[in-house]
Amino acid sequence: MKSRIFLFIALVAMVGCQPKDPIEQRIDDLLAQMTLEEKIGQMNQLDPSWSAEEKEPLIAQGLMGSIFNIVDPQEVNRLQRMAVEESRLGIPLLVARDVIHGFRTIYPIPLGQAATFDLALVEEAARLTAEEAVQAGVRWTFSPMVDVARDPRWGRVAEGYGEDTYLTSQMGAAAVRGYQGSDSIVKLAACVKHFAGYAVSEGGRDYNSTWIPEIQLRETYLPPFKAALDAGSLSIMCAFNDINGVPASANKHLNVNILRDEWQYDGLLVSDWGSIYNMVAHGIATDRRETAIQSVEAQVEMDMQSNAYLWYLKDLVEQGVVSEQQIDACVRDILRMKFRLGLFDNPYCEVETPQYFQPEALAAAQRAAEESAVLLKNDGILPLHNSTQLYTTLHNSKQPTVLLCGPLAHNQHDQNGTWCFDKVDSMTITPLMAFRQLAKEGKIRLIEQKGKHWSREVSQSNIAQLTRLAKQADVVLYFGGEESILSGEARCRAHLNLPGDQSEQLRALKATGKPVVLTVMAGRPLCIADDIAAVDAVLYAFHGGTMQGPALANLIMGEVAPSGRLPITFPQAEGQIPLYYNKKNTGRPADHPVLIDDIPVGAGQFSIGESSYWLEYGDQPLYPFGYGLTYTTFEYGSVVLSDTILDSTPYTLHPTLQVSCIIKNTGNRTATAVPQLYIRDLVGSLTRPIRELKGFQRVTIPAGESRTVTFELTEEDLAYWHLAEGVTLGADGAYAHSAEPGDFHVWIAPNAAEGQPAKFTLK
Ligand code: BGC
Repeated sequence: MKSRIFLFIALVAMVGCQPKDPIEQRIDDLLAQMTLEEKIGQMNQLDPSWSAEEKEPLIAQGLMGSIFNIVDPQEVNRLQRMAVEESRLGIPLLVARDVIHGFRTIYPIPLGQAATFDLALVEEAARLTAEEAVQAGVRWTFSPMVDVARDPRWGRVAEGYGEDTYLTSQMGAAAVRGYQGSDSIVKLAACVKHFAGYAVSEGGRDYNSTWIPEIQLRETYLPPFKAALDAGSLSIMCAFNDINGVPASANKHLNVNILRDEWQYDGLLVSDWGSIYNMVAHGIATDRRETAIQSVEAQVEMDMQSNAYLWYLKDLVEQGVVSEQQIDACVRDILRMKFRLGLFDNPYCEVETPQYFQPEALAAAQRAAEESAVLLKNDGILPLHNSTQLYTTLHNSKQPTVLLCGPLAHNQHDQNGTWCFDKVDSMTITPLMAFRQLAKEGKIRLIEQKGKHWSREVSQSNIAQLTRLAKQADVVLYFGGEESILSGEARCRAHLNLPGDQSEQLRALKATGKPVVLTVMAGRPLCIADDIAAVDAVLYAFHGGTMQGPALANLIMGEVAPSGRLPITFPQAEGQIPLYYNKKNTGRPADHPVLIDDIPVGAGQFSIGESSYWLEYGDQPLYPFGYGLTYTTFEYGSVVLSDTILDSTPYTLHPTLQVSCIIKNTGNRTATAVPQLYIRDLVGSLTRPIRELKGFQRVTIPAGESRTVTFELTEEDLAYWHLAEGVTLGADGAYAHSAEPGDFHVWIAPNAAEGQPAKFTLK
């Protein structure tokens, strides 16, 4: 016992003698010199709408922590010089901007990036984005958004990585690694958002209330935040919503108990735009002064655009309502971020000739647009270059004559999607521009529909013109979908149809007898089962950015085989929402559903059975999570396990289970399969989902060849949040995260609805 005490004292002494982390030392030194006003100043962020007379004195006196939305490097440097050279302590400004899916070069919207299932590519896109953004003086981006979103009515579904916790966690972490790089000095700080539960807003209406039980919060919505923070994200942003009655900007449970105490996070927590002041509208504070108190108590460290801290914090500290220690805790994290960005040593943006749209960036943008497009349907018309249907052409020529039309065929603004303030429309290559090039090269004959079209347009003369042109063509390539303004923040929709008269146009085109290929460029899954049924092939391409035109041309012509997979379930109708693969089985899973038209007249109450489904649709989506076709077919062999036991006891010989299967390319061209690893915990102390994604790969397989894919599963992969032992009712601290012994199913499958499982037991 004595020797143990000695060891303990020695350890404490050693820790005590350790030199303090130099950054922490510098933070201490600075804090000791700062006045209360200077500290509070660090906690404010302003945007350029403030006049020079308002903002410049604050910056020069060291009373502003961050500026926002300035992308002119000269102006950034001018203001930075004011902060560094004129203010008493020379604390540099954090220069922020929403750089969401590209700066000048635009990559697919994040939902499209998720469809690539390609982490290396997502990381690369973020790295190249950072390279462009820092040249404009931006050092902090408000990205990635990792809100797991299961409601496509919600416009911000475009900005996240879809419905799945695991996929979102992986994608968010990849984006953070890309933005921030691996050097000790971070170039562009990431800000993972919106903490938390924002996507669960009632009815898919933005900013709306959320009610999320603790277990579901921890199991479904929090892991992507943790993954992004573990990947090093220097900051995190509050959400707008109230969660279980408490707005995120005043939510101590989220921001203190979980973020600080449990996760030990020492980065910066910023409010969302005006979200502190919004708490008056939420009805949780009577005025702005009170919102400041509530947000500081929840350790929201920087106020974006509410002016609540700027106007009230000093008085609140002087009145003893808020303590200076609370202020210090916030300022510490702000200064730490500035040190991690190296701003104290290199505050200025090196202004040289900006290198935007570099070949490397354009190539990555094109590849991302190619990989993000999901082939949903193909009656054999695609790819065009080997479509036998076309070689009985009207013009007796080897080249098909193509009518290129639809509201997104040539729309440089809209194909970039939501949230891209720094794009350059004239640099955006549309499908029409890409197909003109193919026509020039003699690969097709092109008929263009002239005129400017938009997705909400309704025009009989447009339809008449389209059908006239279609009669002169062998195939119709229709690029439809949503304008960019219809998705993103505050852009929620109740009907997820193709806007305007696009459906009517498609039917009129089909009525000409010509094959119709529909490419959908949209910010969300649309409920367009009837449109899909009406045409011959469908590529779902999301908003794909600068290089989407050439990417789509390559896919349609067959230069590239589609490899995108759905990162979100596609419902048949809005009434099925929320619909996601990771559901519970219920006590009465859908069992031989009898659909509405099959019910005999006068049927007795229980004659059609009692199980969980909609009379119109059964329980099935239009397309499941993970779904996507290509220009070949893959055959998945049986799942083979290294053992039927996964042993979690200490010192075991079997801590890892190898799960593999052979995938054969049974078609006649090389293409990429995206095998997905799913598990199901057959019996838990709480009910478990019918499938959970635990891994994925992209495997390119030449025609006729096979590849073995192998995944590993450990006990940690099987863990979930449940009530702690001996607890029967959830309360704070009553939850545990662990795997429970028992039987599991495991699949390697092409999507969440296919495949045959193997069984193993966790001991
Ligand atoms: C959005 C955030 C964004 C912020 C700054 C807010 O309206 O919710 O995602 O980063 O504005 O532009």
